[in-house]
Parts: sequence; structure tokens; C-alpha cells
Amino acid sequence: MVLRLYDTYTRTLRKFEPLRPPIVTLYTCGLTVYDYAHIGNLRTYLFEDILRRVLEYNGHEVEHVQNITDVGHLTSDADTGEDKMEKGSRRTGMTAWQIAEKYTQVFKEDLQQLNILEPTIWCKATDHIQEQIDLIRCIEANGYTYATDDGLYFDTSRLDNYGHLGRLDIEGLQAGARVDVADKRNPTDFVLWKLSPPDQQRQMEWDSPWGVGFPGWHIECSAMAHKYLGPLFDIHCGGEDHIPVHHTNEIAQTQACYGTNLANFWMHGYFLQLDDAKMAKSAGDFLRLQTLIDRGYDPLTYRFFNLNAHYRSKLNFTWEGMDGAQTSLNRLRKAYRQWEGSGEPDQSYIERFEDRINDDLNMPQAIALTWDLVKSDLSPGTKKATVDEFDRVLGLGLATWEPVVEEIPAEVLALVEARQKARSEKQWGEADSIRDQILAAGYEVQDTADGPQVKER
Ligand code: AMP
Ligand code: ZN
Repeated sequence: MVLRLYDTYTRTLRKFEPLRPPIVTLYTCGLTVYDYAHIGNLRTYLFEDILRRVLEYNGHEVEHVQNITDVGHLTSDADTGEDKMEKGSRRTGMTAWQIAEKYTQVFKEDLQQLNILEPTIWCKATDHIQEQIDLIRCIEANGYTYATDDGLYFDTSRLDNYGHLGRLDIEGLQAGARVDVADKRNPTDFVLWKLSPPDQQRQMEWDSPWGVGFPGWHIECSAMAHKYLGPLFDIHCGGEDHIPVHHTNEIAQTQACYGTNLANFWMHGYFLQLDDAKMAKSAGDFLRLQTLIDRGYDPLTYRFFNLNAHYRSKLNFTWEGMDGAQTSLNRLRKAYRQWEGSGEPDQSYIERFEDRINDDLNMPQAIALTWDLVKSDLSPGTKKATVDEFDRVLGLGLATWEPVVEEIPAEVLALVEARQKARSEKQWGEADSIRDQILAAGYEVQDTADGPQVKER
């Protein structure tokens, strides 16, 4: 089996081979926990879960690290604006630490509800301040930094290939730059250590060789990825917004200290859009998993909705799309439940499935194949055994799904009883009119050898 994955760094589809088999090292950028995850964030975690499952399906053992960004960062990528955690703190009346704890917990529950596998290692930025300071010192010792009044900055002009990941037009950016913010020498320079404002005590701040302050956003991932996975590991992932800034800067920092690109493959999930607009938390209003659940959707419907789009294409969220996903998923679950008997997986379907998932995680094609299988004339036992294999990657939990048993309302049961009585007294007109009342209430009765069976229409 050959697995091909799209690498943003080279902009090519490359054959994947682990650097240190049988282990595959994977780092996925975690949530900034100043608020709930929105369903756009969750799309990225679903893509990464599919990647993880495909790697495991291919026989690899995945060492998966995911960080939690619990240090406050500024609302703009340009190191300006308000601090997100402190802002959340003012909004909710909780401390920055309580906010981080609360939203981390809810985020983990969201992941669980979506059947997303837990990372092997979770790591919090605030637990790794020393590692971040050590990395900044290394970058400083190698001559890649300069100090300003508000912190220590990375001098991006010192790296020849800075911006390669995002194919940044460095000269164009230089020419178009406004008067510099915070004395930055180049528009792409970024803060490594930001000093706390002299007249203000922040909730989250630490002492450092450069003064009291807090780490820049990008340094945590370079430092923690290095600590747990080494200076060069297999795959680093995130959403497409991370290409031009966050991941570009992670590479720069790692280049400056270790001379490596940090990861062998850089993979990015495209955005979920709402009515074709970018769905950002900082924009205020947003949908979260609980919003979908409150509207009556099963969380796995959102997983299924995402499986129908390739991770490298934008996906527009609509309620009609969710309705369609709910209907299709239930159809698949019901088909699965009807398959009785045992069997072996069908090898021709398995091979086609592997071709599709190994073709840069082509899940829409894998789902299409699943429907072909459902409609095929293979035996129920073979279908079941084959879909069980598919579900290792799809993650829909088909084998454990149980239909929700709706309670029949008491009025309907009373009508059913009244109809039985009418029938036993041979009052056929009366029995028929009661049947109509039952139908009007949304139920139907079928007369079986075991007596009347009532179910929702
Ligand atoms: P953040 O909390 O902003 O660091 O985002 C967490 C993850 O969600 C990152 O990998 C982002 O790239 C990703 N992300 C943010 N917005 C969206 C979106 N609308 N669709 C898909 N992924 C997103
Ligand atoms: Zn990151």
C-alpha cells in the first residue's frame, strides 16, 4: 500500500514514509482556549483524526502530540491588539486560568463526541515556559533576534528561505509596509518574548532573561514539538490560516536553533465557511457543536457531513447539508443493523477503499464506495465485515450504534387499546376511525400475530 499525502511545503503530493518506522510522529496545533471551539475549528480536528486513522490503518504506530494554547495571545497576527485570554476574562468574570481550564474541558468533550481519537500527549503552553525560554535563548545565541521596547523579536531577514511555506512575497511586503509597528525591522518579524506593559500586571506573566512578560504565540509549538518529537518529525498539521504566519514562523524558529524544518510533511485543512464567509471566533457569533446538538442533530452527523468533502477544499456549512447528512447517516446505520450473519471482508472492496484513503485521504470517494457496497449483491455478512474495516477510518461507530427508542405517548397507547376493544366487539367503523386518529397523531398500527404493533410513521 502506498500512501500519498499533499505537502504544503513542496506543494506536491508525496509518498509518505515514516522517518523512524514503525513510529509516525504527528503534531497538531491545538485550540486557543479563551472560548469554545467553533465547528470550523472542529473541521480541522476531524481532518487530522482521519489522517491519524489512515496512518494507523496503514499499520503505523502514531505518536500524536497536541498542544493547548492557554497563554494569552493578541487578537491580531501582527502582535498587536488585545490579549485574547485577558479579554475573555473581562467578558466572563473568570480568571484567565479558569477560562483556560473550562474551555479545555469542553473542547475535549467535543472531540470525544465526534469520535476523534485522543492525542497520545496533550501539552499546555503554560506548563512549558522554561522550554520556550530555552529555545528563545538558542535563537538569540545564534544571532536571529533583536530587542525593542516591548520585547524580543525574530529578525526574519536573517533567514534566506523565510516564508517558503507560504510562498510569501517578502520584497512586496517590505515595499508595502506601513510605518513600523513596535519598531519592527521587517514587516514579517514577530515577537518571541513580549514584555508586560510597565504600568500593568497581567494575569499570566513570567520572569525571563528579557524581563517579565509572556512568550510569543509561535514559540510554544516549536518548543513543545521539539521536546516530545525531536527537531525533525513526520507530519505537522493545522488549518490553512496557519500557512502564512504561524507555521511559517515555527519553521523559522526551528531553522534558527536546530537548522531543521521541524516537520517532513506540512498538511493543512481548508476552512469551513458559513454562508461563504470565513468563520472566525474573533468575529463574535459562532456555531459550536452544542448548537448543533441543541437543534436535534447527533454529533456524529457533523462528522459524516465533513467526510463528504475533501479536506483540501473549502466546505460551506448549511442546515440543509446537515439534514442531508443526518438522513444519509441514518440510512447507513439502519442498513448496517440489518446485516446478519458473519463473513470475511470483500478483498476487492477493501483494495478500492485503501486506494481512495491513501490518495491524500479522499474521503468523499471512500464514502461513495461505501454506498456502492451497501447496494451491491454481496452477502449481508460480507458487507458487514467489509464496512467494519472501513469504519476503522470513517469513525462512525456503526457497530455500537443503537436507534433511539422513542417512547410512544400515553394518548396514542390509549387509542390503540380502544381500537383493539372496538375490533374485538366487531365495531369495524369505530376501529377504523380510531386508526385515523392514531395516524393523525403521527403513529401507525400494524396488526400482527403478536397483537397490534405501533410505531412512528
Ligand atoms: P485556533 O484556536 O484559532 O488556534 O484554531 C484551532 C484550529 O482551528 C487551527 O488549526 C485553525 O487553523 C483551525 N481553524 C480556525 N478556523 C477554522 C475554520 N473556519 N475552518 C477550519 N479550521 C479552522
Ligand atoms: Zn501551533
